[in-house]
Amino acid sequence: MKKLLCVICSLMICFAVYAQQLPRVKILATGGTIAGKGASADRAAYKAGSLPIRDLISAVPGIEKVAEISGEQISNVGSQDMTVDIWIKLNKRINEIFKNNEADGIVITHGTDTQEETAYFLSLTCRYDLPVVLTGSMRPATAISADGPKNLYDAVTVAASPNSKGRGVMVVFSENIFDGRGVEKISTTHVDAFKSPNSGPLGQVYDGKVVYYMHDLRKANKNTPFDITGLDKLPNVAVAELYADAPSTAIDAYVASGVDGIVVSGLGNGNLNKANVEAVTRAIAKGVTVCRGSRVVSGRVTLFDETDDAKLGTFVADDLSSQKARILLMLGLTQTKDKKTLQDYFFTY
Ligand code: ASP
Repeated sequence: MKKLLCVICSLMICFAVYAQQLPRVKILATGGTIAGKGASADRAAYKAGSLPIRDLISAVPGIEKVAEISGEQISNVGSQDMTVDIWIKLNKRINEIFKNNEADGIVITHGTDTQEETAYFLSLTCRYDLPVVLTGSMRPATAISADGPKNLYDAVTVAASPNSKGRGVMVVFSENIFDGRGVEKISTTHVDAFKSPNSGPLGQVYDGKVVYYMHDLRKANKNTPFDITGLDKLPNVAVAELYADAPSTAIDAYVASGVDGIVVSGLGNGNLNKANVEAVTRAIAKGVTVCRGSRVVSGRVTLFDETDDAKLGTFVADDLSSQKARILLMLGLTQTKDKKTLQDYFFTY
């Protein structure tokens, strides 16, 4: 009887210790304004990507109560200098961390300029459904009311939450939680800089609480065909933006430079003026894949509206921004050049 009591007691102690264990969150730092440093209390002449990861973590009081934190520096750049090479490195490291059970969730600190692109790239290429959360800041770490520490605290809270599993790659900013597919930077300077123009946020994070309102039903998740393990290069896809009376110079130059694909950031519902219809026809004749996107911030580009895609040889970006359509086309071209399959990708992911 005594022995049995002893065993029960030790089991209870083990359980209590286990129950107290915090989720393990790994922070991968890539740079950005969140790691930015300036000489004055405003944003004047600050330099993004200056502070190392340990400084970012030590500026967040209480973070150690939310999760067991570890950190790694992947790069330290302003995200205007984000590259496909860094994306590939990030993707490899994330898949490795989850494969080796090194963390329960990952937070990526990142500049805001291209944060939505990295989030979508990782949504399509990450092979695990554990939480990956990007965040950043609009004010450098040295500014009055720097927003970085709060965003980082919130991002860690979301990454540590059991409710975040299976929700793909997300962006946390100004207490909002966005899915990596829908989110866009919508302000150049405001602290509340991100929105999902077509679908709204997935939820909110506040006072250490995570509340989800909805699920993203698109399939930009671990099951996409875009397993890039083993690749160290991706097809070269460019974006050509149109405007009133735009000449064909950009498209012709991209074709001459040898791109594999072009997303035309067209007018309204992805419309092209005559000069660019001709340029697209020339591009396709030379084997370049062309997707019709739009420069408009919300809505979708529809097939066969004002433009006859079958005749022109194009397909549409659906509701993706042109910069995100570029990412899907880069990854799509690793699989196929077939237009119907590529179009299906755009309606699915
Ligand atoms: N240029 C900066 C960057 O993207 C802006 C920011 O982080 O807010 O790295």
